[in-house]
Amino acid sequence: MLSYRHAFHAGNHADVLKHYVLGLVLAHTKQKDKPFWYIDTHAGAGMYSLQDGYATQNQEFKEGISKLLSAKNLPQSLADYMAQIQSFNTGSELSFYPGSPMVAESFMRADDRMRLFELHPNDYKLLSENFEGFGKQAKVEMQNGFKGLKSCLPPPPRRAVVLIDPPYEDKQDYHYVVDAIKDSLKRFPTGTYIVWYPLLQRPEPAEMLDELLALNVPDWLHVTLSVESPSEEGFGMYGSGLFIINPPWTLPKTLAETMPVLTALLALDETASFTLDSQIE
Ligand code: SAM
Repeated sequence: MLSYRHAFHAGNHADVLKHYVLGLVLAHTKQKDKPFWYIDTHAGAGMYSLQDGYATQNQEFKEGISKLLSAKNLPQSLADYMAQIQSFNTGSELSFYPGSPMVAESFMRADDRMRLFELHPNDYKLLSENFEGFGKQAKVEMQNGFKGLKSCLPPPPRRAVVLIDPPYEDKQDYHYVVDAIKDSLKRFPTGTYIVWYPLLQRPEPAEMLDELLALNVPDWLHVTLSVESPSEEGFGMYGSGLFIINPPWTLPKTLAETMPVLTALLALDETASFTLDSQIE
């Protein structure tokens, strides 16, 4: 059953954290003069209208990317992210918000390749249309991204950034992520793997994180951003996190400098906070 549509959430606080950090990882990866693959296991539609359709229903972007749009004196890396989002728009208003594949595309060079997996037929169609004309650089497949990932590893250039961003509507996704990471590390231990997850009042996200930490990979980074206190009813996403295996060595310092700013901008109440932990050997 595929009921999740990312368009409802486009540009929300979780997208901002995810895409900002994705951009930092890719900017670092492309510094080296060697090609790499970008693999997006759960790619979504690639581009979202903020002026009509699903995104306008709850207008989650107003508590996400819109907060950065109106911010003054952003630190350079956040200003770079904001400039990237604005490059998909004309004028001062935001009409469009790019999904992870389109964010990543901005960092691709002629010899880099993208492998994008999306299972929902409607979002697959939109994603394919958004990547028409990208030729052999971007391959879009309507396939289970966890299976698709296996077929990509190890990638021919032996360099890759992998984003694993499932909807987690099916609780099994938490287990599939851990299985996918275990399998991927056997096939390709040096890849950079970015796992996104929601902060919820249920045990599965923390259990998944414990399992990922228990893999004892030498190099990892974990960042969370909580935008408000968890609801009294016990429902709803109050923040999000990213667990990154083989992160750029520069990432801990950049995030230590910018997460306080991002947290202050995206705070919905006075309890908003971030955590940042890493181990880079
Ligand atoms: N990565 C996107 C971004 O940041 O813009 C958002 C992705 S959204 C959180 C998750 C997407 O995964 C949805 O579009 C959903 O249709 C798709 N999906 C769900 N299960 C999948 C699976 N097993 N394989 C590939 N795509 C899947």
